[in-house]
Amino acid sequence: MPTARERSDTLLIHADRGPGDDRALAPPIHASVTYAAGDAREFAEMATRARHPRFYARYGNPTHERAARLVAQLEGAETALLTASGMGAISAVLLGLLGAGDRAVAQTSHYMGTTQLFTELLPRFGVQVELVDQADTAALVAAIGRGARLVMVETPSNPTMTLTDLRTVAEAARAAGAVSVADNTFACPLNQQPLAHGIDLVVHSATKYLGGHHDLIAGVVAGSEALVERIWRGTIALGSTLGAFDAWLLLRGLRTLSLRVARANENALAVARHLEAHPAIEAVHYPGLESHPQHALARAQMSGFGGVLSVRVRGDYARTERFVSRLRLFTQAVSLGGIESLAVHAAAMVAGTLDDAQMRAAGIAPNLVRLACGIEAAEDLLADLDQALAA
Ligand SMILES: *Cc1c(COP(=O)(O)O)cnc(C)c1O
Repeated sequence: MPTARERSDTLLIHADRGPGDDRALAPPIHASVTYAAGDAREFAEMATRARHPRFYARYGNPTHERAARLVAQLEGAETALLTASGMGAISAVLLGLLGAGDRAVAQTSHYMGTTQLFTELLPRFGVQVELVDQADTAALVAAIGRGARLVMVETPSNPTMTLTDLRTVAEAARAAGAVSVADNTFACPLNQQPLAHGIDLVVHSATKYLGGHHDLIAGVVAGSEALVERIWRGTIALGSTLGAFDAWLLLRGLRTLSLRVARANENALAVARHLEAHPAIEAVHYPGLESHPQHALARAQMSGFGGVLSVRVRGDYARTERFVSRLRLFTQAVSLGGIESLAVHAAAMVAGTLDDAQMRAAGIAPNLVRLACGIEAAEDLLADLDQALAA
């Protein structure tokens, strides 16, 4: 097995292989729901409900274990847990660690499902929630200092690729005795390792970069053995278990993560620079651009700037809609982090759920478009954007 010093490219190919493997290079899919015990004493040990990959498949299985080991290594975590979706990971963390009377701090701008957990679900169970502007580090620190049990951050986040200062949040959480959690989906561990900045737990929608092919819904929680064990106890009761075949697909997707992410990073930077100079574009939001208001923070806490950016088209809602509809290589579809480039007209996406004032509060201008770059050739993506803007 490679040492911790080996590069992530190598870890992704080898870190899950062990002496127990048979001679197959491709890992097996462990479809079995249940596992035989050798004798009564072993059965009693298996049934103690400690985390065990060979007991009953809702508790985990050997295919999960291999994919989880890869993500744990990439994040620099002791261990990781797979879940049936990114929301399955986030809900397991929040429901596993928070209880009635606890205070939780989160951002005003989170993934929509996460916002729903903080504003609708957790308050019903007696958790007090304070939402803070992620770019206002002093306000975040102050909110954590008011007795928080848990703080959740997401960086970069939708829709304007705003960052949260991971190190400062982690220090404030430590001082307050709060658990800090970072959603690392947009950056992915090759561009940003929140645990290295002192954050306690990382969650992922593995549906995005980790899976990488728009063919799989999965989630990951990574952190210390003690915290992940507590969260795992929650997942076996909540039932957000990933299927064995999907764990295998995730493992297969992970093998090429470093190649895909390197290309997506390059493509996003090329698109950001190109559109920043384009007369039909009003603004570009990308942490890798010198013009991003938090570019210095991006350089300090990210090693790459990711494949996602957003732009404001010069013009109104209708003009923006025409631009998105005319794109040929960028497909108009939600999600990100896969091999295909995708575009989302942000205002169109929330038109059914937010009114104009709520849209403005969420930073969603009528001309805002999110571009998630895939792994196509940059020249072709630029040409596609140019033809759609020219029309
Ligand atoms: C997609 C996404 C989620 C939710 O993940 P699912 O796999 O769809 O459940 C959570 N956080 C972020 C940042 C996401 O992009």
